Amino acid sequence: MSVSCKPGGRGAGDGLVTRAQSNLCEVLWRDGTIVCKLRGRLKLDGTNVLTGDRVTVEALDEGRGLITGVLPRRSVLVRPPVANVDLCVIVFTPKSPPINLELVDRLLVVGQSLHLDLVLCLNKIDLATPAELETIRAAYAGAGWPLIEISAKQGVNVDQLVANFQDKVAVLAGQSGVGKSTLLNTIAPDLDLAVGELSAKVQRGRHTTRSVRLLRVGGGWVADTPGFVRLDLPAIEPRELAGYYQEMVPYLGACQYRGCLHDPEPNCAVKAGVQAGEIDEGRYRRYLDFLHELQARPRY
Ligand code: GDP
Ligand code: ZN
Repeated sequence: MSVSCKPGGRGAGDGLVTRAQSNLCEVLWRDGTIVCKLRGRLKLDGTNVLTGDRVTVEALDEGRGLITGVLPRRSVLVRPPVANVDLCVIVFTPKSPPINLELVDRLLVVGQSLHLDLVLCLNKIDLATPAELETIRAAYAGAGWPLIEISAKQGVNVDQLVANFQDKVAVLAGQSGVGKSTLLNTIAPDLDLAVGELSAKVQRGRHTTRSVRLLRVGGGWVADTPGFVRLDLPAIEPRELAGYYQEMVPYLGACQYRGCLHDPEPNCAVKAGVQAGEIDEGRYRRYLDFLHELQARPRY
């Protein structure tokens, strides 16, 4: 573990854990990074410090300090283990690997259930035709989250993406090969992550032992380990699912049947919206797939 910045001097106050590794943490403290141990009492009561935690620290000399407490967490992500994540960037591609909108929609549902801000990041736009880009734009125009079209490799529109990181702790999500490590290298050049390294680590199952780092990006932070490797829909009732589709929300009170799931029911306002071209058909089809997945879950 290295001290990357000038130490901020002695004193006490709040800091942000940018890397948690068993009992040693890197903590952002007065514009510098100090290496902290947990105060003995915290170790005794089994306090687990996570990357992303806001902590109270007592800074000592020579860039060292003690963590004296962990402030209440707003959220905890399990994979990767990061506390207080604000933003999830859903990375996908028009091709190479082939576009996977099922995963995009799944991430949108899961991210909303965790109360995260979301950004759709379409990478490798250099591989798509204008018509293909327009189709994707149209599908997500009503979904309620920004769509940013980038080429991580060529550095196109990356600034536009980074503007969304301001004052936030962000995590990247998306399938292997969509360019997450390329993107991290572009936005945090000191990182020097081998392209393909993230996916190789995931395949070998080694990512569990590697500690997550937060990298400074555009006035905010991004985790150097992508999130949501395997993904179940959240524990919601089938009737709640449509509420996760912003483009369906205006129609939800207008169906004939109360409790309409917008599937086999007649006189359904959502289906009428799809037929009128007001709700994207692909988004609706994938809604049905998720609905059936929720309905097939065992009930307790
Ligand atoms: P990850 O598995 O999501 O981390 O994906 P990688 O960053 O390892 O990238 C997978 C492949 O996509 C590599 O060969 C990259 O060079 C390539 N790649 C990444 N971004 C772009 C891009 O904007 N355009 C093109 N054409 N290729 C890209
Ligand atoms: Zn309906």
